[in-house]
Amino acid sequence: MSQHFLLSKKVRDFSLIKLLNWSDDDYFNFLKHIKFKGEESTVCPECGAIKPPRFLKTRKQWRCRDCDRSFSLFSGTVLANSKLTLRKIVLAMYLYSSETKGISMSQLSRDIDVSYKTAFTLLHKFKEAITQTEDLTPLKGHVQIDGGHFGGKPRSGQFRRIGRPEDIVAKIKLGKSQGAKRSRISRANLERKKRNRRIIINLRQLGPKGTGAVRTICRVAMAEDEKHVMSLIRRFVEPGTYIETDESSAYLQCSLGYKHETVQHSTEYSTIDGVNNNQAESFFSRIRRWEYGVSHRMEAKYMQDYANEFAWRENTRRYTQLEKLRCLADKVLSSGLSRWWCGYWQGIKRDDEMLWKA
Ligand SMILES: [Zn+2]
Repeated sequence: MSQHFLLSKKVRDFSLIKLLNWSDDDYFNFLKHIKFKGEESTVCPECGAIKPPRFLKTRKQWRCRDCDRSFSLFSGTVLANSKLTLRKIVLAMYLYSSETKGISMSQLSRDIDVSYKTAFTLLHKFKEAITQTEDLTPLKGHVQIDGGHFGGKPRSGQFRRIGRPEDIVAKIKLGKSQGAKRSRISRANLERKKRNRRIIINLRQLGPKGTGAVRTICRVAMAEDEKHVMSLIRRFVEPGTYIETDESSAYLQCSLGYKHETVQHSTEYSTIDGVNNNQAESFFSRIRRWEYGVSHRMEAKYMQDYANEFAWRENTRRYTQLEKLRCLADKVLSSGLSRWWCGYWQGIKRDDEMLWKA
């Protein structure tokens, strides 16, 4: 069996030690190289002119030859007007991109010595950059689709799951097995569950045999039903594509315009012919580990942001450390201004959640 990618030597091409030994100029040059893609011309974020701008060495800024306004590395991006040093920003990018299951905001605040609020908006701006630069061209070839329930976990009820000792004794006397007593959920708790529960539907394009999924697109919906599923497929999957799903009735119409096969999950994970949707399933296992171990909470309002982050993590899972850092830096530098996280702590918050409407 081949070696796991994360255990190979290839992946360790850029360590935190190397990054910490960089000088301020190194951080600047690293980002500059990604921003200009090796050429000395860029689109001016002020007027849109594409000309080689003048470099103002002492200020580490550029001045447009057309509109005469100056701009810096992060002008016009999600990190515009950030007061953080480049060192802290690149370090945050490194930690965020290299953790396979994400990094918590409070951990980042301790790692790079910023307040929790700063770490919170910084990580959300990374997610926004990932969302803005998402590749939405339709998936093709071989696609697996599945939906997973997230958020709205009810608090444990008033009663413990295991009954009182006298109940257990009574049950044993009656010859019944020691069945778990169902925890009762209060009405308020049930309402909370209904209100916060969402479905993440993921669509994954598979590569050649043995390579797993190569592209992932996720959308958050209120239900995994025919209406939502089919509108997603029509938008994100090319007609004629081979689609594998589980036996859910939501996918019944997939055979119209697509080659559709199902696996009966109540009896097997893969049919004798190899039909399965294990790649779509495994996506949820990773995002759930993040929910249990890192975030501890998935707010419905920001679930699409989290789903996009994990779709990106999946798409870059075979990247080396340096490739991941470059990829994230590129997304941040080519993003537009932040619509959702500028002035968040001053009370400017996103009004509506991003829900897929069929
Ligand atoms: Zn200009």
